[in-house]
Amino acid sequence: MTTKTHPRKERTLVIVKPDGVQRSLVGEIISRYERVGLKLVAMKMLVPTKEMVEQHYTLDPEWRRITGEKRIKNARDKGQKPPSEDPLEITAAILVHLKNYMTSGPVVAMVWEGAHAVSIVRKITGGTEPLSTDVGTIRGDYVLDSYTMSDTDGRAIRNLVHATGTPAESEKEIKHWFSENELTNYTIVQEKILYDVNLDGIFE
Ligand code: GDP
Ligand code: MG
Repeated sequence: MTTKTHPRKERTLVIVKPDGVQRSLVGEIISRYERVGLKLVAMKMLVPTKEMVEQHYTLDPEWRRITGEKRIKNARDKGQKPPSEDPLEITAAILVHLKNYMTSGPVVAMVWEGAHAVSIVRKITGGTEPLSTDVGTIRGDYVLDSYTMSDTDGRAIRNLVHATGTPAESEKEIKHWFSENELTNYTIVQEKILYDVNLDGIFE
């Protein structure tokens, strides 16, 4: 029999990118994930190497295709011409830019745990393009970059944060940035209210 892990045990990787660190937004970004009820189980500052960045983005063998197709769709939806008709050509260029971007300074890598951590963090983080993503998200509220501007200038979109896209990817991404002994299993008191089934511990 397979035991299904409880949703509250889901973990996700977040990286505050070099522009987030330079903009002094590390504290603000952490507080956005904290206040929803997620638990920080690992965190460190580091300067990634280009190899680490390339490996990170290609852990998912489908990332090149999906990201290229996403860019083509985004251009078409806006009535614009995509940078190329070939998704893999688009992603090859993005990957070069990403390696320069992600190695340009220190980043802060973290692992967050809690119910539906991957989707909750993506929702709070917002979509890839700050220009078109929702107000109220980190990428929508704290930065103003766009596909048009970053492609014109030949660089990656500056969107402050990386957040894992799917639960299937999160384990691989966490392993890529953290060793097992850097992750801490512990309890925070608010979990009692977030997850306790009967809420029967409140009255004295
Ligand atoms: P994310 O999951 O929302 O971060 O987006 P992706 O995984 O598709 O892409 C990874 C990162 O590459 C993004 O966060 C951007 O920094 C950058 N990026 C993605 N697509 C484009 C693009 O079409 N143009 C440029 N210039 N950068 C992009
Ligand atoms: Mg992604």
